[in-house]
Amino acid sequence: ESFKYTYQVVCRLINLFPLLTFSGPDGEKTWPKKYPYCGGVFQSPIDFHNDILQYDSTLLPLELEGYNVSSTDQFMLTNNGHSVRMSLLPTMHIRNLPFQYTAAQLHLHWGNRNRPEGSEHTISGRHFAAELHIVHYNSDKYPDVTTAIDKSDGLAVLAVLIEVRCPLNPSYEKIFNHFQNVKYKDQVALVPGFDIQELLPDRLDEYYRYEGSLTTPPCYPSVLWTVFRHPVKVSQEQASLNKKDIFLFSLSLYPKKSTIKLAAALCVVKVHFCAPCHFLNLVC
Ligand SMILES: [Zn+2]
Repeated sequence: ESFKYTYQVVCRLINLFPLLTFSGPDGEKTWPKKYPYCGGVFQSPIDFHNDILQYDSTLLPLELEGYNVSSTDQFMLTNNGHSVRMSLLPTMHIRNLPFQYTAAQLHLHWGNRNRPEGSEHTISGRHFAAELHIVHYNSDKYPDVTTAIDKSDGLAVLAVLIEVRCPLNPSYEKIFNHFQNVKYKDQVALVPGFDIQELLPDRLDEYYRYEGSLTTPPCYPSVLWTVFRHPVKVSQEQASLNKKDIFLFSLSLYPKKSTIKLAAALCVVKVHFCAPCHFLNLVC
């Protein structure tokens, strides 16, 4: 069990300074007027820095069910005008959370020409090239993702940070090679089934866990976030093709939300499976 780290960020008090989160790019400042939740509690994304991490012995390595989808099944890839999303199957679940969470869709957050670093969450202030979100809804309590989206226990999102390194990532390519068919809003392509777990890093036991929100309006504080500690790698070719082919002509409906840097005084730190924890200021 050595070299396992599971982090939980406990930030019950972030609503003390909600307006601090709106110093971001133009557009974001005006969100709270139209979308009150964007100025409210439990907002995402946040920066994971050592000061706010807390040891939590109750967290478990993530267990996924039904993620290995047969190639005879198909996922629907859609350009909705501000992102490309891929529908997932109702047979895909996260198992060991307080409720059963069923997969609904995945999508990517990329940078653009002006802001090449596209990840939403950051680690010690560091952005990554992109971020994959796999969205699940609480299927024990709600019939579908639309019903769950504004409920406090409604959603669970797995987030994978993506960095640009050689070589080409064949698993991500299974999605990316269909992007040419969804260049424009409302275009749809079908992607043959594959093991979606290939899109995650190898270590499913090393992650940050916190209660947050949708990162775009209406910013509902409904998301139990699991952000994997280790990024996955895609090639430069893959990264630039995606930006060129999707982002430069897709209408970006929302600017990216600023990452929230929570103060240590507002959050405490939990770490589980703490073997060599010397890089954290913790005694395990
Ligand atoms: Zn997202």
